[in-house]
Amino acid sequence: MRKRILVTGGAGFLGSHLVDRLMMMGHDVLVLDNFFTGQKLNVSHWIGHPNFELVRHDVVNPIMIEVDQIYHLACPASPQHYQANQIKTIKTNFMGTSNMLGLAKRTKARFLLASTSEVYGDPEVSPQKETYNGNVNQTGPRACYDEGKRVAETLTYGYHYQDSVDVRVARIFNTYGPRINPFDGRVMSNFLIQALKGQPLTVYGDGSQTRSFCFIHDLIDGMIALMNVKDDQMVERIVDPAHGKMADVHLPVNLGNSKEFTIRQLVDVIFEVVDSLRQAGEPALQHLPVLEAEDRVQYLPMPVDDPRQRRPDIERAKTLLNWEPKWELKDGIKEMALYYIQQIKTGQL
Ligand code: NAD
Ligand code: UDP
Repeated sequence: MRKRILVTGGAGFLGSHLVDRLMMMGHDVLVLDNFFTGQKLNVSHWIGHPNFELVRHDVVNPIMIEVDQIYHLACPASPQHYQANQIKTIKTNFMGTSNMLGLAKRTKARFLLASTSEVYGDPEVSPQKETYNGNVNQTGPRACYDEGKRVAETLTYGYHYQDSVDVRVARIFNTYGPRINPFDGRVMSNFLIQALKGQPLTVYGDGSQTRSFCFIHDLIDGMIALMNVKDDQMVERIVDPAHGKMADVHLPVNLGNSKEFTIRQLVDVIFEVVDSLRQAGEPALQHLPVLEAEDRVQYLPMPVDDPRQRRPDIERAKTLLNWEPKWELKDGIKEMALYYIQQIKTGQL
């Protein structure tokens, strides 16, 4: 059934892919974005379509509109950007989420929060289950984001239990794909651009830290499935970690790929993909330099509070949503490389 769907942060990486999918499903889609890290270009192909609206709006300010569903994604995701203005990041997560939940309450819209694996901080257990309470440094440089998302989750469940707002919380693990801003500072965009341009890959620390990388199309499948699963299915009878007793708990859902890679292994996959594109004769790469094997990696200091390991337990998503990621890392990286190659060809990079 056609719905009026609000996507906050819809001009960003995840948001714009979600918008594409919702538009193709025939929904009416409204995007609110302040263009801090997102770009109009990511959704420009929908401008002029009768089902699509793009509004420059900062979610820190309330808005009066009518909607049936809200995907709340507005928030910078790259450590470089969310640390650039820490207070703003906290305000976006607290005031922005509060405003969007208020809107959900008034319009009786279903609300999905784009939360993050960062709520687990530097985890002491692996893989991370939804019932793990995390290990976050609340005063470190990442705290504005980690604690911001934690309070956003708390607000979401506050509105659910107090005001009966129909909510979903997606804990999203590292996601990659075309449209990540090339200057975003995240590992996939940094490494791919460095490899394509023949620059050394900047590995922080010794590269033994791990991440689990989910391709964008898999993630969007999971988000839409989570939004549309029936409310009574969201509740699970578990030993509540808060009291140690059996209780019906409305749990978040981890969305991510459970295959874990060290950053050093990621370097190898990146080179495998870029070298094979170069060998296949990709014209845009022919005039770019190629480094000798020993010069291909530059080791830089590890950022403060950088989690040592990260891998989702996705059993809950598998059972509840009948969902699991399908894309192999190599194939997803190739799609992303082709996107940046297109930008190199048009002189944008
Ligand atoms: P992104 O930076 O590409 O997109 C965020 C979007 O939100 C941008 O368009 C930005 O302009 C907009 N925005 C930021 N602050 C805003 C504000 N105050 N008002 C209105 N718009 C605002 O990041 P992304 O990777 O697309 O992430 C989207 C969401 O998913 C974020 O909430 C992020 O925390 C979450 N998430 C992403 C990942 C990932 O790996 N990409 C992992 C976990 C969680
Ligand atoms: N990283 C790296 N080189 C880079 C960018 C990131 O080695 O140029 C590392 C970073 O220290 C972290 C991992 O890659 O351990 C993922 O970083 P990203 O910023 O993509 O996301 P995070 O999961 O830390 O939010």
